[in-house]
Amino acid sequence: MAQLYFYYSTMNAGKSTSLLQSAYNYYERGLNSQIFTAAIDNRVQVGRVSSRIGLSQAAHVYDGDTDIFMAVKQLNSNQKIDCLLIDESQFLSKAQVKQLTQVVDELNIPTLCYGLRTDFVGELFEGSQYLLAWADKLVELKTICHCGRKANMVVRVNEQGEVLREGNQIEIGGNDKYISVCRKHYHQACYQ
Ligand SMILES: [Zn+2]
Repeated sequence: MAQLYFYYSTMNAGKSTSLLQSAYNYYERGLNSQIFTAAIDNRVQVGRVSSRIGLSQAAHVYDGDTDIFMAVKQLNSNQKIDCLLIDESQFLSKAQVKQLTQVVDELNIPTLCYGLRTDFVGELFEGSQYLLAWADKLVELKTICHCGRKANMVVRVNEQGEVLREGNQIEIGGNDKYISVCRKHYHQACYQ
C-alpha cells in the first residue's frame, strides 16, 4: 500500500535537498520518480527544483488550475511512476491535496510532499493544513534558531533587517528575507 508523506519544516531546513536525495535514491535503483513544483516559485528557473547546496533537477510545474491527479495518471500511463515528489507543497490547494490522496489510494503511487508548515505570521498554509490533516506520515525536517533551539517559526524581514508583521502570505523573489527562529525568538522579534 502506497502512502502519503508530508515532510514539513520552516525555511532553510533542507527540504529541497532532501527531496532531490530521495529522487536520486529511486534513480539509482532504476526506478521512475517524477517531481512537481509550484509555478509560483520563480527564484530559480521554472520547472526545476534547486537546493542551496547546489543540487538541481528538472520538474513538472503545477499552478492553482492543475489537476495533479489527472496529470500524474497521464504520466503513469506512459511509464509507471514509482514515486511522486512534490516540492513547495504549502502552495497546494485543498482540492490538490485531495488529488494527491487519490494518487496514493487509486494509482498506488507513494507520494512525498515537502513544504513549509506555517507562514511568517504563524498561520498554516492551505496545502500544509490539509497535508497535516490527511497524510499517512508526518516527518519534521529540523533546523535550528541562532540560540540553538529547534526553529519552528519564520520571520520576514525587509532590506533594512526590520521585522515585517503584515503583507501577502506568498512573497517569493522580493527583497524580503526569511529567518528561521524558535518560537520564543519569534515572539520576541514580532511582539516586543
Ligand atoms: Zn531562539
